[in-house]
Amino acid sequence: MKAQVLHSYDPDLTAAQWVTSDTVTDPKIARSDEVIVRIGGAGVCRTDLHIIEGIWRPHMDPDGNSLLPLIMGHENAGWVEDVGAEVEGFRKGDPVIVHPKITGGTCLACRRGHDMHGEGKFPGLDSNGGYAEALLTSHRNLVKLPRTLAPKDVAPYSDAGLTAYRAAKKAAQTLLPGQRVVVIGAGGLGHIGVQVLRAMCAAEIIVVDQAEAALQLAGEGGADHLVKADGGEVEAVKGLCDGVGAEAVIDFVGEKGTTKKGLDMTRPMGSYYIVGYGEDIQIPSVDMIITERNIIGNLVGTWAELTELMALADRGLVELATRHYRLDQANDALRDLHHGKIKGRAVLVP
Ligand code: ZN
Repeated sequence: MKAQVLHSYDPDLTAAQWVTSDTVTDPKIARSDEVIVRIGGAGVCRTDLHIIEGIWRPHMDPDGNSLLPLIMGHENAGWVEDVGAEVEGFRKGDPVIVHPKITGGTCLACRRGHDMHGEGKFPGLDSNGGYAEALLTSHRNLVKLPRTLAPKDVAPYSDAGLTAYRAAKKAAQTLLPGQRVVVIGAGGLGHIGVQVLRAMCAAEIIVVDQAEAALQLAGEGGADHLVKADGGEVEAVKGLCDGVGAEAVIDFVGEKGTTKKGLDMTRPMGSYYIVGYGEDIQIPSVDMIITERNIIGNLVGTWAELTELMALADRGLVELATRHYRLDQANDALRDLHHGKIKGRAVLVP
């Protein structure tokens, strides 16, 4: 099959090409619970740029170069192509979205439904992913798509959407009418988070971003207030929140100073949800005690949450802004993402 393959790291992201068009061996079913999915769309994620930079190397490739060559792509949707002997309920041609973490299903974390904390592979990061014509995964990862949703239009929900959904759902479950939630960063994840909040709670939604285009997208997604991140955003948000800040702040950026600003926008007894990553969160312990604020981490989401998100998408309550590229345009998609030229999410379509 055709695939886009990463052969070497590029810490400065300056190479002319990051992935090459290769013909590789087709994936083969080796275990009875495995499934081959013909890719209909593979989302292009900032994590892929971080893989190219080598940020994940100490975690996924500790002994140097044994991970490469790697087919990236952890946000996948398509059609069932082949199933192992044990697989029931799925047939060739079924449209599916693929939960990104392959889990065995028998450890305690899996049995409690915490898929992200079970043992297992994460195709696209530690094994071959979906920048290709086909992907090997497990039947446990599949969520059947309703007729309303095409694989190429929903692929990024499997990671970007799911991550935004989980954080927004946690916040929505605590937010009451009359309260406020701040979304920092309305890009690929944030624009989904805004729509999930709109669908799942009655709190006022305040969105902070540097880019006019992102703010506009957030406004279309249901934000009540748009705040330009121009240096005065903490005061602007506080001005919308009784001078003290919001009950919930979801930070989809997590670098370039947003963690301090996000905590400053969080009122006493409020919660700060960290989703984006890059910098250290610093706060004196005495401040945590006096204000009783919560700092809450978020890691992708569960298989069950992916079904919930698909239910929202099926009803038209969440819409993903996507830009499609051919599989052989993977370098263009990565470059456009790197240069901030994509509104919403880029998707490779074989
Ligand atoms: Zn991703």
